[in-house]
Amino acid sequence: MQLATAQFAKNDIAKYPFLKAATRYMKVPNLEIEDLTRPELEEILKRAEERVEEAILYARVSRELKNEDIEISSYPAAIVLVTATGSSFIKKRYALAEAKQAYEDLKGEPHKKIFKFAENFEWKLMLNSDHEIPFEFMLSFTDYLKNTAHLRGKTWKLVNRLLSNGNVYLTRNETARLLSEEIRKYIEKKFEAKELPKFPPRIMEIAEKINKLSIEKIGKSEMKGFPKAIVQTAFPPCIKNLYQAASAGRHLSHIGRFTLTSFLINIGMPSENVIELFKTFSDYNERMTRYQVEHIAGERGSRTRYIPPKCNTLKTHGVCTNPSELCQRVRHPLAYYRKESKQHG
Ligand code: SF4
Repeated sequence: MQLATAQFAKNDIAKYPFLKAATRYMKVPNLEIEDLTRPELEEILKRAEERVEEAILYARVSRELKNEDIEISSYPAAIVLVTATGSSFIKKRYALAEAKQAYEDLKGEPHKKIFKFAENFEWKLMLNSDHEIPFEFMLSFTDYLKNTAHLRGKTWKLVNRLLSNGNVYLTRNETARLLSEEIRKYIEKKFEAKELPKFPPRIMEIAEKINKLSIEKIGKSEMKGFPKAIVQTAFPPCIKNLYQAASAGRHLSHIGRFTLTSFLINIGMPSENVIELFKTFSDYNERMTRYQVEHIAGERGSRTRYIPPKCNTLKTHGVCTNPSELCQRVRHPLAYYRKESKQHG
């Protein structure tokens, strides 16, 4: 059954600012990047920064529906800020956070709004009028496949779905989930532009702040799940090799030193102990070593704690040595340690 769609009100656009209809409500039509630094638009920029910070910290973007004008315009401004960070982690995280929030909101929307939403993305969505079948909606097979390609879980596999005349039956939550997947992809596309504009200094300043926050956040999540005491037997092969070389006073490349230091700091070794480890080096310089270790630990300078490079990077630089069977299932030395230390705990 096809249902008439409702019009989006301004409040809906504030809740879902990525909809096509949002352009009608922009406080400043055709907003240019330079405009964002105008003093009268400061509130929009502030809210945009908040959107991105919430995405990084909580993987959600709250809705401030009392001031619709600011809420609507802060979305494209947030897209500008995320683009300016140049970070693929932040881009993915922001798209995911907006999509997750939309999923929560969409679940409670009336039919007419859900259809209007589907129309925005040119979906062929229908209401199921057969009361014998316990599903609320039916979605065309092609729209279904397009939005389930990246979804894990057996329930999304077509063989496990009820189909009729080229349509797949969906519950309300499933419909909201697939719409949110469409939103995530749509927002991620916004960050695909190859040629970046020149961003004003104020925008770059905020982008840098956001980048620091994301590095801290990644660092914190990497810390989760590590044992309190250091378990040397759970070190991945690359780190074992670096650790043995350092203990024996053998020379380490720059990336080798960085990897070992950041790894040990992140699993909870105090900076003093890491500095002690490098004392056997023939070129040991206490002041320089202390500076480097404390910088990596985030105890000086930018206050950002660094994490070791990913396995792929370590492979490229020849730091990955004798990978074990577990190495095939991890992409980061810290992930290896987290898994392996559980076996030894
Ligand atoms: S695959 Fe990763 S964890 Fe394993 S040795 Fe190589 S770099 Fe280290």
